[in-house]
Amino acid sequence: MKITREFIEAIPKTDLHVHLDGSIRLNTILELAEEQGVELPGDPQDEDELKEVMNAGAICEDLTDYLKAFDITLSVLQTEEALYRAAFELGEDAARENVKYMEVRYSPLLHTSEGLSYPVIVEAVGEGLREAKRQYGLMSGQIICGIRHMTPEASLRMAELCVAFKHKGVVGFDLAGAEANNPAKDYREAFYLVRNNNVNLTIHAGEAYGPESIHQAIHMGGAHRIGHGTRLREDGDLLNYINDRRIPLEVCLTSNVQTRACKSFESHPLPFYMSYGLRCTINTDNRLVTDTTVTDEYCRAVRYYDFNIGDLRKLMINGFKSSFLPYRKKRSVTARACSEFDAVVQQFEKAYGEDAITDPQVAQEIAFQKAAADARTPMAYAVGPEDRGYPLLRRSDEDADDSEAVDAEQASGAE
Ligand SMILES: [Zn+2]
Repeated sequence: MKITREFIEAIPKTDLHVHLDGSIRLNTILELAEEQGVELPGDPQDEDELKEVMNAGAICEDLTDYLKAFDITLSVLQTEEALYRAAFELGEDAARENVKYMEVRYSPLLHTSEGLSYPVIVEAVGEGLREAKRQYGLMSGQIICGIRHMTPEASLRMAELCVAFKHKGVVGFDLAGAEANNPAKDYREAFYLVRNNNVNLTIHAGEAYGPESIHQAIHMGGAHRIGHGTRLREDGDLLNYINDRRIPLEVCLTSNVQTRACKSFESHPLPFYMSYGLRCTINTDNRLVTDTTVTDEYCRAVRYYDFNIGDLRKLMINGFKSSFLPYRKKRSVTARACSEFDAVVQQFEKAYGEDAITDPQVAQEIAFQKAAADARTPMAYAVGPEDRGYPLLRRSDEDADDSEAVDAEQASGAE
């Protein structure tokens, strides 16, 4: 069975690396600018012209150049209403392509020019995401970013905010911004505060700088995940360390090609990383600036690397497993995603009148994933009421899932 865009759209997905200020809808920028009397470059009425400016990714020279597009989105994201709307619409867009879980990142440092306080910013984004959950069942969390090209003290303020909002919608801390000339070690204090409070930590690294940056993120920052990690292949020793400890990589294919972290899709390390066993996840980075969706990213992975259904199932599982959800919740959500994935495969087999898995190696890989799950589930796993966070499934599917007792850790094979 050919892997079509429709199939990819139908499977459950995650987006663990998506910037709020890079993922606002184009027409929302125009409407907000009009409402707020903000002047945009070019003709504010013309969506096509704005699109050209906003999809900066396709024409930029490097990461610093890419980041310029954010000046425009940030100019209209300085009110509670605007932040609420951007967060809700991002949730809506994700839910419409069957993203089940999303972690939205942004830095409150960049939303204060009209006088908003940090807590008000976090609350506004949180309310937008809660509304997306109410309407679409989308599970999500916020990641608060420190910024590399601002002072370490500013990032420390963000770490304090992150700690205060732990369990109140915020699931992690990140360091974003221009990577070159701003090494992670300068932000040690922020990382220490976050880790000392048992908060999850991801750090952008190995995108606009070499593997030394990833080394610092892991060993000085104590990162639990790595944003991008594109240049990890340049350091085999570190690559093995990250692989052995199952540290997830938040891969953003299209963005990497646009910021020149990678010359082309063909030369991107994702297929190598996958074949080596690294825990890779598929993410958008910026829906607007990169002009992409999670479906687009999976489609490109299939197109350029010839990924099969077994690979897609693995990438999907990696996404759920790498989330900053609590472990017990994560394993029930991952198990449900596996059931839904398999149901979607069956549904498309029927629709297309073809078997999805004809290659014996792919069949073996999926059978291995499932067998490993069975072998390691000696007792029925009761899903508590707090774990029923997957409301887009039909009632009957939920009941069926509960009896299967699949563990997230087990679902992806013997890792
Ligand atoms: Zn990013």
